[in-house]
Amino acid sequence: MKNLTPAMRQYLEIKEAHRDCIIFFRMGDFYEMFFEDAEVASKVLEITLTSRNKGREDAIPLCGVPWHAASSYIAKLIENGYKVAVCEQMEDPKDVQGIVKREVVRIVTPGLVVDSDNLSAKENNFLAGISVLDGVFGLAFVDISTGEFRVTESDDKEAFLDEIAGLDFREMVICEELKESELMEAFAGRTIGCSVSYLPSDYFLLDDASGLVDEFFNGGREVDFDGHPAMTGAAGAVLRYVKETQKDRLNHINDVLWYDIRNYLVLDDTAKKNLELFATIQGGRKRGSLFHVLDETTTAMGGRKLRWWLNYPLVDPDKIKTRLAAVSEIKDDHLLRENLRSSLAGIYDLERLGSRVSMGVANGRDLLALGRSLRLIPVIKDTISMLESSLISAIRNELDDMPDVADLIGNAIAEDPPATIRDGYVIKKGYDDELDKLILLGTDGKKWIAAMEDRERKRTGIGSLKVGFNNVFGYYIEVTRTNSNMVPGDYVRKQTLVNAERYINQELKEYEVLVLGAEERRKKREYELFVEIRERIACEITRIQQTASRLADLDAIASLAEVAEMYNYCCPRVNNGDLIDIKGGRHPVVERMNPDGGFVPNDTLLDRNGNRFLIITGPNMAGKSTYIRQTAVIVLMAQMGSFVPADEAETGIVDRIFTRVGAGDSLSGGQSTFMVEMTEVASILKNASSRSLILLDEVGRGTSTFDGLSIAWAVAEYIHDSDKLGARTLFATHYHELTDLARTMDGVRNLSIAVKEWGDRVIFLRTIVEGGTNRSYGIEVARLAGVSEDVISRAREVLRNLEKGELDEVGLPRIARGKPPRKGNIGQMDLFAGKRSRLINELKELDVLNMTPMEALGRIIEWQKMVKD
Ligand code: ADP
Ligand code: MG
Repeated sequence: MKNLTPAMRQYLEIKEAHRDCIIFFRMGDFYEMFFEDAEVASKVLEITLTSRNKGREDAIPLCGVPWHAASSYIAKLIENGYKVAVCEQMEDPKDVQGIVKREVVRIVTPGLVVDSDNLSAKENNFLAGISVLDGVFGLAFVDISTGEFRVTESDDKEAFLDEIAGLDFREMVICEELKESELMEAFAGRTIGCSVSYLPSDYFLLDDASGLVDEFFNGGREVDFDGHPAMTGAAGAVLRYVKETQKDRLNHINDVLWYDIRNYLVLDDTAKKNLELFATIQGGRKRGSLFHVLDETTTAMGGRKLRWWLNYPLVDPDKIKTRLAAVSEIKDDHLLRENLRSSLAGIYDLERLGSRVSMGVANGRDLLALGRSLRLIPVIKDTISMLESSLISAIRNELDDMPDVADLIGNAIAEDPPATIRDGYVIKKGYDDELDKLILLGTDGKKWIAAMEDRERKRTGIGSLKVGFNNVFGYYIEVTRTNSNMVPGDYVRKQTLVNAERYINQELKEYEVLVLGAEERRKKREYELFVEIRERIACEITRIQQTASRLADLDAIASLAEVAEMYNYCCPRVNNGDLIDIKGGRHPVVERMNPDGGFVPNDTLLDRNGNRFLIITGPNMAGKSTYIRQTAVIVLMAQMGSFVPADEAETGIVDRIFTRVGAGDSLSGGQSTFMVEMTEVASILKNASSRSLILLDEVGRGTSTFDGLSIAWAVAEYIHDSDKLGARTLFATHYHELTDLARTMDGVRNLSIAVKEWGDRVIFLRTIVEGGTNRSYGIEVARLAGVSEDVISRAREVLRNLEKGELDEVGLPRIARGKPPRKGNIGQMDLFAGKRSRLINELKELDVLNMTPMEALGRIIEWQKMVKD
């Protein structure tokens, strides 16, 4: 190691300070990786591993990527769970002798991605910090690509875990002392795809944390951190982690939002999955999710806002009505909606652009996108100028078109700037006198060359003389071989070609210095100007953020309006009552899969009295699951302020939605599915309130019939009982025995899904009717599924036998009747049956209480012998 070059020594120093990162070490046009980093990165990135000083004893493993393509390589490393430290040259190598100064300017981790190419437009990229103190769970999370920062606190562990599972964090920072804790175990199943970074406990210390919170959010901060040490600790850890990785350019993280989990309709993790809000259960696809149906947003910001609304439906009827009124207003004016949406479509992701400006990573194209977006805001304000709903009026008043910023960009930034800001062509002509002079020197070059060429031709008499330029040799005068003898004495030979010689003379040399210098000076000047403009715009970050957020609201509202109109939804009446009364309700996703009107609408009536517990029976595939889910989805949509797929709907506010899908329907593999099922039932019983909405789908299915039935029965009694829970519930079950619950419980109503029998066949009508079913039609489903006809007819026979009783007089299963047993088995079966009935008879007649133990033992030996023979 002694004979390392200075650059390698510098590298090792930097690596030492960032041991957990892969170092992207800038060398000219490349980012190089060395030693172990090179070995790891070359594998992950599928690039060639070579070495410095190849073949020598002190060879160093090396791989590299071109600087302009770095972001996609970084993204790939992040995806594979690595962190990357980007180490830049801090000085121009031309200006220094010896080694250039290098510094890590940014650390990229999964939760800290700023580059919009590597972010999914309509999703946030959250980094979360978690802290636990005296039974209180503190949560803080930030999206550094948009600047949003939120905090909350809870002493309800289950609710906290659900909250974390629902937010889809990319990365969590947690105190290293919690590494082996039970909390981390609880996270494990719920935070798939989230990487965890353990930090020393001093990141979470209250004093430091309070200091950071003040530093970032001071002034205008509405959140009171005093008396909330868990939340403060979490916020402090996140802020310090961000600060250390991003090196201080964080003016866009300037506002903190506190929220209380209980101020929203709480959806536990299973409910979000089962109702397929963001992904399908099967395959986890976005297509086929509720969000996919509702998302007609045209901007990325609007998409993220709508996602947020769906994640956090409201519980305050007034707030819900405010949103509904806005949606309604835009839905009603077709032309306005079209104009609005097409203007919005031209707006770029202002939140992320703003953040990039503020962090000093925006390029010319980013500013241009920002400027073009701002120019559309007056158009949008004009479009909605006549609307009267309070929400839209508020949005209109807070939309700031920032003419100062738009003009600055319009005057300064070139029409088609390159992706880099150090190579010129970013700034428009006419913006800066000094720059214009430098540009002139460059563009006048052509004229100057033509003039010189003309002069030299005349002077030397060589008609074919040319003045030109190439990158290697610079400016030259070219004369063909045949004319070499006419070259004047002041020409100096520079290069020899096959048919020509190239020369330079004093005049051309002087010009070259001037022009090349101008090119360099121009690039430098443009860079300075650009950075200055970017800084000026960065000062306006709060205005950009506020406008971005209002545009996001507007886009989300317009999306809900568009969907309401397209799919014929109605405006729900939301209130604080107990009634859920849906007429002609549909499942918004299932109906889209069969858009030709194939979906059969159904009514739902739930209240807290005679209709609080609906038991839905019906054959397999009849539509039970769809029916109970559509009810929950309609309630949820109403509370997010959306129109709903129904002819008419009244929904009394629900505080939580619970769903439990029996093991047979669920895909949660791994541990015993029945155990999972029961854990979730336990959580419902513990956490539900009388204002909750509970969906139970085939609960009890994961175990034997009698166990399952008994559990289902007891759970139903508990939920139904208003002294205990009395929550509104939809219970889909294939246990038709449960319909008997209605005999003893006044809040239970039996419903079933109508089927029509056609001879032996069943036709699903999909209509909900009063009363329970007492048949399961499983065989019919088998037939529909293509099981062959002879198996089906045998199954019908067996079923008829079964329905008559399980065993016959000699103890033979009746199930076997109707078909002759296979030949070879006849004797044996009869023999066994005979013995068994003798055995049973003897046992029946035994006078046990009047026998000695020895006598009893004797009889047992006898029987055993009989059976063994
Ligand atoms: P179950 O839970 O009773 O077994 P599902 O709810 O899973 O039945 O529904 C089975 C299939 O029937 C679904 O895939 C869906 O396509 C269709 N379906 C359900 N409800 C309706 C309806 N109201 N109208 C039309 N098709 C429906
Ligand atoms: Mg089902």
